[in-house]
Formats: sequence, structure tokens, C-alpha cells
Amino acid sequence: MPRYDLLIQEGMICTAEGTFIGDMGIKEGKIISLTKNAEGDASRVINAKGKMVLPGGIDVHVHFHNPYGRGYSVEGFFEGTRAAACGGITTVIDFGVQDPKKGLMAGLHQRMEEADPEVCIDYSLHAMITAYNRSVSLEMVKAVELGIPTFKMYMAYKNYGWYSDDGMIYDALLHAKKLGGMILVHAESDTLVNYFISQYLPEKKKWGAYAHALSRPNLVEAEAVNRMVYLTEATGGKSYIVHLSTAEGADLIQQAKLEGIDIDAETCPQYLLLDDSLFKNKEKGHLYATCPQLKKPADIHRLWEAVLQGDVNIIATDTCTFTHKQKDKWKGDFTKIPYGMPGVETLFPLMYTFGVKEGKIPLPRLVELISTQPAKKMGLYPQKGTLQIGADADIIIIDPEKKKIIRAQNLNTVTDWSPYEGWELFGFPEYTLSRGKVVLDKGTFVGKKGQGRFISRKLS
Ligand SMILES: [Zn+2]
Repeated sequence: MPRYDLLIQEGMICTAEGTFIGDMGIKEGKIISLTKNAEGDASRVINAKGKMVLPGGIDVHVHFHNPYGRGYSVEGFFEGTRAAACGGITTVIDFGVQDPKKGLMAGLHQRMEEADPEVCIDYSLHAMITAYNRSVSLEMVKAVELGIPTFKMYMAYKNYGWYSDDGMIYDALLHAKKLGGMILVHAESDTLVNYFISQYLPEKKKWGAYAHALSRPNLVEAEAVNRMVYLTEATGGKSYIVHLSTAEGADLIQQAKLEGIDIDAETCPQYLLLDDSLFKNKEKGHLYATCPQLKKPADIHRLWEAVLQGDVNIIATDTCTFTHKQKDKWKGDFTKIPYGMPGVETLFPLMYTFGVKEGKIPLPRLVELISTQPAKKMGLYPQKGTLQIGADADIIIIDPEKKKIIRAQNLNTVTDWSPYEGWELFGFPEYTLSRGKVVLDKGTFVGKKGQGRFISRKLS
């Protein structure tokens, strides 16, 4: 029997701590040796000379096969995890949605049944609470036991039936605290959104897709983040703002952290790279609609600062992929656009190109933002999020000089447009390993449906 199933030789091994040139030996899905010169034979050797070897990315915010209206977003768990693997992501966290009639656990089990036969990399779920009440709070215990200690609540979307009021969030924070859990929130003020929408609805023809931006000024997010800071402080609980998009939000998170409040935030590549002038494009503007929506250059600037200073420690994508045809159903009404964009496949290359290549962030910080911090925050560390002996062999190998021009048809994401069409990106992996199995081999996807696993999580 060879000593290793796979040996990666002479690569530049990169972690959140730093880099060194060395070899990595893998056996039965785990990293078992990490040294300058590995001894012993291997079933397969990958020579990584001149390449970077990094822990696979962890996208803690994706929505695959997501219900919308009478249909679904176009990427299922197979297509979505394939796109992830091809972009250097080796773990995703999706959502199990509470059915108000059946409860929280039923939603999680149903989602696992859907994901298990499809995923080609590992995954986990957050529990999405849509109707908080006493029985949900009791079910939270069971979710934590199943390895799902993170609960998402919506401060907006009363019209979808997902809204949680302050009392519900307060109670959930207290409850999660007792269980070692965390409350994730979509922080936009429902009442303010509705007020601003009502102001712009009569002028929808005049503004087109840009009304989506006009009807969600920064105040909408800032007020909700501010409220969440108070609620977190008052309960002594643990909270996390998903897809932070505003300068004001970043200021509030920074201040709250200075005061020792246990609140954290993720942002997404689209909020660091795209601005709301895109909505002014008459033909394509509506494609870019997400919630929260793209903001102004000043927000982009402040969010990069937050990423550099450590107030924002996680980059995720909020992937929710629609086709042109699905997006076109808006027919000029900004309140009817399917909200969401593709993202999981381009997360790592975008952040590598515009973060590391452009000299904004050092490589170890990128590893921290996309792999190590998401793993720590979401309770996957040190099984995932690092290259160390005993960790899962979730690894990507990158040729740092190789570039690719983004074309929707050249991506594995199953849609006919990309927000980054024509952009030149570095950092697409040549190899992606999921628990030691090669799923991307010299740039060709070779993964199989169902080879990924549900990963049980526990917050530290
Ligand atoms: Zn989302």
C-alpha cells in the first residue's frame, strides 16, 4: 500500500498564517503530512511547482434551487456545487427553510434529502426561520443537535411571509445564546423599504430598474443594522449580518465590535466591485437586481476598508442564479424582478484578482476571508478552512499567472449571463480536491453527484 493516496509536491502552501514551499501528503481524505520534503510513495503525485496550494474556499451563503414565484432559481445542488468546485470553493452553506405548517426540522430534513444525492462537494445548512414562535424555539435545540447552530431571520420581506419582528429576534437571540447558536439576519427595515417603494411605484416607468436602488436608500440597511446591534447587546447574544452593503453598516459594525458586542458581518464581491449605476442600463440593468442592491462608489470604498481593517472578516456570495428569461419577467416593474445573481464560481477569482493581484490585500488575508474565518465563524474549523495535519483535504491548486476572460457560456454556472462578462480574472483553480478526491483535474470537472457530504457544525 502506498503511504499516500495523493501527494502534492513543491507547491507554495498558503494559509492564513503565511506561505512556504513544500509537500502535502493526503490519505483517506485527510492531510497527513505537511513538510519540506515528503518521504514515501503515493498512488498519485501532482507536481505543484510554481503553483499556489490553498485551503478550498467556503461560501457560507448560497441559495441553490431556490423557490421564486412559481419557479426556482436555475442552479440545483449538483450544478451549484459543480460551479463552486470549478471556482475553488469546497464547502457551501445553503438554507433549510421552515415551512410554517411543518416546522423548522422538517424544512432542514427536506433540504438535506434534496442536497445529499446531488452535491459534489461538502455542504451544510443554516436554518431559515420564517415564522418564529414557541415551537420553533424548542426546535432550535434539535437543529443544534443535528449540527446546525445558525439561524437566519429576516428583518424585511413581510410580503413573502418571512418577516421577524424585534420581539421575535430578541427572543431568538436569547434562545440561541443558551444553545451555543447564532442569529443571522437579513438587515433591511421592512417598513422603510415599503415606504420608499410606495414613493417610487407611481414613477416606475420613468426610472426603470434604477427605481430598485432609489427605493432602498442606505438608511434602509443602516437602521436595521443599528437595531440589530442594540438587540445583540441587550441580549448578550451572538449575531451576524449577511450581505452587508453600505458604508453606514460598516461603521456600525466597527463601532459595535469596539464596544465588545458579539456581532459580525459578511459582505459579497458584488458590493465590493459593482455599483448602482448599472441599474441605469435600459436593456440589462434589471439583471443586477439583488436584495440588498448594489450601492455607490463611496460604499464600495468603505467596505474595502472594513475588509482590510478586519471589521468584515468573511466574503460570501448570496448566489441565487436566474436566467435572462426569468429576470425579464419584471416587464418594467422594479418590484417584480427576481432578486439574485450568480456568484459562487467567481468568488475566489474575483477576490484574488481585485484583492491580491491589485495589491489591496496580502494572500494570507485572502485565505482568511474566504476560508479560515468562514470556517471559524460557522463552526467548521479546524476540519475545514486550513491546511494542517488532520484537516479535511479540501484543497485548491492555482497557477497565479493564468488568466481567463469571463464569458457566461465558458462558466459552469448554468445561466446565460454573468455580472462580470468580459472581465479578465486570475485565480481559477487547476485542481480542486474535496476530502482528498480530485473533483477538478487540470481544469476539467471530474466530480460526481452525491460525493459531497453534509457537515455537522458546532460553534466555538
Ligand atoms: Zn441570501
